[in-house]
Amino acid sequence: MTTVAAALVAARAKLPAGEARLLLGHVLQQSAAWLLAHDDQVLDEDELLAFASLVARRAGGEPIAYLVGFREFFGREFEVSSAVLIPRPETELLIEIALAKVGACRPAVSTHPGFRFAAGERNSRQAESAAARILDLGTGSGCIAVTLALEIPQAQLAAVDASAAALLIARKNAERLGAHVRFLQSDWFSALGGERFDLIVANPPYIAAADPHLAAGDLRHEPAAALASGADGLDAIRCILAAAPAHLASGGWLWLEHGYDQAEPVRELLAAAGLADIEQCRDLAGIIRASGGRLK
Ligand code: GLN
Repeated sequence: MTTVAAALVAARAKLPAGEARLLLGHVLQQSAAWLLAHDDQVLDEDELLAFASLVARRAGGEPIAYLVGFREFFGREFEVSSAVLIPRPETELLIEIALAKVGACRPAVSTHPGFRFAAGERNSRQAESAAARILDLGTGSGCIAVTLALEIPQAQLAAVDASAAALLIARKNAERLGAHVRFLQSDWFSALGGERFDLIVANPPYIAAADPHLAAGDLRHEPAAALASGADGLDAIRCILAAAPAHLASGGWLWLEHGYDQAEPVRELLAAAGLADIEQCRDLAGIIRASGGRLK
């Protein structure tokens, strides 16, 4: 007879306690608090087998989010699979920026200390959000597009991805969370014709192809096409910027997430694309991780 407590102790040989609790909670469909309160509960054979298999897979390097099938982003649960990049906390910065640029429908206080707009700016932009047309390029799990659709209900959201498997997940997330997003299979702008947007956001692949991080840890299990982008990691960003001005409305913003060491080249690429009012924002760690400009 193995209890919850005993199963967690046994797993400690292979995994940190928090990860073991998450996996057992997933098997039992219970919260961490429930596990604590019911640690004398006896597990049946199926539960033990399922837990042992997840512990072994995690010990072998598979990301927790893929094992449990979900990851939280901006306060909501997003379904994920190995077809999509796992949502990262640093990408919430793009959401904060988008809310400030097209106007939030509720007063939100930025959680990012490096990110500040004058108090009045958010309010003065609320009018602009009336029917803001927003595009999310390379939507993956859909976490950016779905979050923006829910945070700015009056905006019109479009989201594209080259991967049909990713779009399947993104659509499921939109449906489960009740977000209205127009999804299109598209290689960046290819399926968008002459459409223009008030705001374009993207968390494109931006890791250099030879970066050793790609062959280590959780990144090994994520889709390479969502992570790596040419010798300097900037191929996707160059490609997006080459076409972006033709898809921005007058005064429309383009904002990109990029690598911790790409602030300079991305600023230069934004300027070379003819975008004005270039701004750069720091993430929670104080590193510039998002840059944007607008079409004048
Ligand atoms: N921020 C991710 C990482 O470093 C990379 C995501 C991306 O390439 N868009 O793991």
